[in-house]
Amino acid sequence: MTTIAESPDVATFTDEAVAWLSGVASPRRSTAWGHGSDSVAVFENWSPEDERRHTAEISEYERRKFDAGWGPLDWPAEYGGRGLPLSHVLAFRRAEERFDVPRRTEMFSVTQQLVAPTVEKWGTPEQRETYVRALLRTDLIACQLFSETEAGSDLAAVRTRAVRDDDGGWVLDGHKVWTSGATVADIGVAVCRTDTDVPKHQGLTVFLVPMDSPGVTVRPIRQMTGGTSFNEVYLENVRLTDGHRLGPEGKGWQVALTVLAAERLDGGNLGLANADQAVELARHLGRPLTEIEQDRVADLIVHSYVQRITAMRVASVVVAGRDPGPEASVGKLLATDTMSRTSAVVRRLLGSDLVSDTGAWGTFAWTDHVLGAPGYRIAGGTDEIQHNIIAERVLGLPREPRA
Ligand SMILES: Cc1cc2nc3c(=O)[nH]c(=O)nc-3n(C[C@H](O)[C@H](O)[C@H](O)COP(=O)(O)OP(=O)(O)OC[C@H]3O[C@@H](n4cnc5c(N)ncnc54)[C@H](O)[C@@H]3O)c2cc1C
Repeated sequence: MTTIAESPDVATFTDEAVAWLSGVASPRRSTAWGHGSDSVAVFENWSPEDERRHTAEISEYERRKFDAGWGPLDWPAEYGGRGLPLSHVLAFRRAEERFDVPRRTEMFSVTQQLVAPTVEKWGTPEQRETYVRALLRTDLIACQLFSETEAGSDLAAVRTRAVRDDDGGWVLDGHKVWTSGATVADIGVAVCRTDTDVPKHQGLTVFLVPMDSPGVTVRPIRQMTGGTSFNEVYLENVRLTDGHRLGPEGKGWQVALTVLAAERLDGGNLGLANADQAVELARHLGRPLTEIEQDRVADLIVHSYVQRITAMRVASVVVAGRDPGPEASVGKLLATDTMSRTSAVVRRLLGSDLVSDTGAWGTFAWTDHVLGAPGYRIAGGTDEIQHNIIAERVLGLPREPRA
């Protein structure tokens, strides 16, 4: 069977990509086992200052890439893209894996893969003009102001209020929590309640909130990794013009679903790069592996292959122009499973040395992986919610009662 990557067109494209990458980056020092890993760093252990510095470094590379025509490859030219199919996007990612380019953090996939397409879909012509290109080039970084203390899995329960003022603008009041990257974000996509007299899914509206607006306060939350990648965000008497409303009033649920669907799609590749690194660690440990270690490493290889194949299956459904539906939930579950298995392998291989592995920028800190992985069972829709989706939409089991 000829894979997408083997078609000559993609091969020529890959050669051109490698030629450009050779001019801006050195070849990656570590040749990880496997191929086609994701290039998103998911386990940061940073203070807000570190996060600001790394975000600036990554943005610099993303802008260079954008300006050279290697940015949003599958987007139309008006947004800086080339209108190429997903196969070429994946080919470029694979080429990038071979170079020491800055690994994009979660904020970059939120900005470029989640928020930019949502603004393109729901935005007014002015909003598309103002935001889409700027998000894709990472001149603006976006965060998701979705979750609240009483609204996570049940997102439609949000209590943050947006009320019309006398000038046709809006006043926002509420408290968001677990907001990744709020300290570096320029805009927040906020799901707010604008109507309390209708069923909860119908009373929501989404706003693009400039994070430097008066009344926005960001408080970092210390995580068990030691880092502070997510935050509480207080919105107190935040005044916005109606031009900050994204999508029609009362259609916030549909706008939020656009973001969440993109998030599920994006989640299927998570953790593969770290799994590859764990296999590399086993290969270069400097001592023979015990039988049980060999068994665990083999198990990790098999599981990460299944995850890769599932991610390719999801990608091929998208290439065919269809909604991947529950396949994306299977992909997300496999991703968190791979992360747990990676942690188990690394704990076994490193033993007590694990605690002294603090890593450095550009390399892995295994402590960050082991402490950060459990959070991904919660982020982007918990494992239980993914199980519900598969139970209902794949297995055809009865739907759980809904209010
Ligand atoms: C690393 C990380 C990054 C995050 N980044 C962001 C961000 O940038 N922006 C943002 O808005 N939010 C973010 N979140 C928050 C995340 O979206 C929520 O934590 C998640 O949706 C779960 O909501 P909750 O924490 O309120 O838990 P709850 O929804 O209260 O769930 C508690 C438990 O009950 C289970 N449960 C809930 N409902 C059901 C059900 N119907 N059936 C079966 N079990 C159920 C859940 O699986 C879970 O085990 C992030 C979270 C993490 C861990």
